[in-house]
Amino acid sequence: MPTVTESSQFSMPMDTDVYRGIYEDPDELRMQTLKIKRDQLLLSETELGSGNFGTVKKGIFKTTKSEKKVAVKILKNDSNDPTVQEELMSEARVMQQLDNPYIVRMIGICEAESWILVMELAELGPLHKFLAKNRDVSEKNVTELVHQVSMGMKYLEENNFVHRDLAARNVLLVTQHYAKISDFGLSKAIQSNENYYKAKSCGKWPIKWYAPECINFLKFSSKSDVWSFGVLMWEAYSYGQKPYKGMKGMEVTAMIENGKRMECPPRCPSELFELMQLCWTYNTEERPAFSSVELRLRNYYYDIAQ
Ligand code: ATP
Repeated sequence: MPTVTESSQFSMPMDTDVYRGIYEDPDELRMQTLKIKRDQLLLSETELGSGNFGTVKKGIFKTTKSEKKVAVKILKNDSNDPTVQEELMSEARVMQQLDNPYIVRMIGICEAESWILVMELAELGPLHKFLAKNRDVSEKNVTELVHQVSMGMKYLEENNFVHRDLAARNVLLVTQHYAKISDFGLSKAIQSNENYYKAKSCGKWPIKWYAPECINFLKFSSKSDVWSFGVLMWEAYSYGQKPYKGMKGMEVTAMIENGKRMECPPRCPSELFELMQLCWTYNTEERPAFSSVELRLRNYYYDIAQ
C-alpha cells in the first residue's frame, strides 16, 4: 500500500523525503518521464499561493511505490496571454536541469484541463512570512537557513544558471531547518562563451533586489544574484521586514549610486552584516562569488554551532 511520508516542522534536511528527490530510486528512474499523467495526480482545494499565471495548490503525486505530497502550479485556463504559457514552459525547462537538495525540484509537467507544473512541496511557505510570524526563531536558525540558500546558489553558479529573482519570498521552507530556493520564472542558463545574460529590455523587475549592472546595463550574472542574496540576508535577519521600506525603486537606485546601503538589522550579527555589505559591492568584479559567500557562512555557522 503506498504511503505518504511525514516530516515534522523541526525535521533536519536529511530526515525529509525531499532531500534526495524521487528519481534516485532506480525503479522510478526507469520510468522517469517528465510528462505526468493526469490520473497520477490528486489536487486538493488548499491554495498555497497565486499570481498572474494562476494558482499553486497542494496535491498528491502517485507512483507505483508511494504517494508523495506535492505542490502544483496550475496555469489559468482562461489566460489568453501566450507569454504566460511560455514563461511556465521556460520555468519548467530550467527546473528540469537542476538537482540539488536546496532547490525546489520539478517532478514533472502534466497537460490536462490546463498546464500543471508538479514540484516538491515546501509546506511551511515563504521565508519572510514564516520569520515575521515566528520571531522566536533564533539567529542561529536564521543563519542555518541562509547558509542553505547559499549552498543552493553555489550550485546554480557552478552550473551557469542565473536566478534573477532571488528574494526571501522565493525561498520556501520544508521545515524550520530546511530551506529551498524556488521560482525560476526569470532564470536563464548562461551561454558558455559569456559570463552574463543580457536582457533585451527592462521588464516588471524586482528593482530593490537588483545590482547596479542589472539596472544600468541589463546584465545579469551569478554576481548580480550575490547582490540579491545580500538583500535576502537583510530580509531574513530583519525577520521579514520589507527592504528599503517606503522607498520607490528610483529612490533606491539613487541611494545605491550615492554609495549608501541599508543599515544592520537589530538582530543581525556584525560578521554577517559585513558579509551583506560585501554582497553590495558596487563593482561586479570586486563582489564575492557564491563560492566564497557560502564558505564564509559555513565557517560562521559551524563556529557558533560549537
Ligand atoms: P511569478 O512567477 O509571477 O513571480 P509567483 O512568484 O507569485 O509568480 P511562485 O513563487 O512560483 O509564483 O508561487 C506563488 C506562491 O505559491 C509562493 O509564494 C508560495 O507561497 C507558493 N508555492 C510555490 N511553489 C511552492 C512549493 N513548491 N511548495 C509550497 N508552496 C509553493
